[in-house]
Amino acid sequence: NQASQGGGRKQQIGIMGGTFDPVHVGHLLAAETALDQCGLDQVWFIPTNVPPLKAGDQGTDAETRLRLVRLAIKSQPRFQALPIELERGGVSYSIDTVEALHAAYPEHDFHYIIGSDRIHDLPQWHRIDELTALVRFIGVERPNEPVDLAVLPEAIRTRVTMAAMPPMGISSTDIRQRLLTGQSARYLVPDTVYHEIIVEGLYGSRSHY
Ligand code: ATP
Ligand code: MG
Repeated sequence: NQASQGGGRKQQIGIMGGTFDPVHVGHLLAAETALDQCGLDQVWFIPTNVPPLKAGDQGTDAETRLRLVRLAIKSQPRFQALPIELERGGVSYSIDTVEALHAAYPEHDFHYIIGSDRIHDLPQWHRIDELTALVRFIGVERPNEPVDLAVLPEAIRTRVTMAAMPPMGISSTDIRQRLLTGQSARYLVPDTVYHEIIVEGLYGSRSHY
């Protein structure tokens, strides 16, 4: 985290990866928590094209998921959306993304933000040893997903820092279920996102605005 060649402080960039199907306030608060508590300068939201661990899921088309992310982050100038995994196509492995970012922005430090449901999966991530060499992880706890860092191999555990986020029992799965069954998802997603979902009838929603 020390000065780079130019003498300036390195930019600290959070990577918020996810399917975002759809993006919700849990994602936004996780990113804001990491930004605020871990001294990040920006958080880059990177929607996955095809998630490795969800293969088989049909899911919403990538352009729609990206459009909703862009609407969701519009009011926070430190958040950006990066469609690099969508542009690369195929299964989205975090290591490919991080290697590309590292090469493109050697002057930045990258911090990969993950919810507690994914922390225990880390040893199974594709080329995890290379990934842990390039990024640190910022973990945020999800309700009913207790974290036990002690179960992780030391090489991974030492790269994970937890940030304290108010627990939010919100998931995209639950939101999709609500929309499909005619229930409201208002306030679980930003107003702009909710409006877009309802107006476009996304996720099988029917005029519940
Ligand atoms: P799904 O139910 O479809 O899996 P999700 O709500 O888990 O959706 P993802 O796109 O899978 O959302 O998650 C992207 C990232 O955000 C993951 O690291 C996940 O752990 C984290 N995350 C999602 N929801 C929350 C939440 N409510 N609190 C903290 N982190 C969250
Ligand atoms: Mg998930």
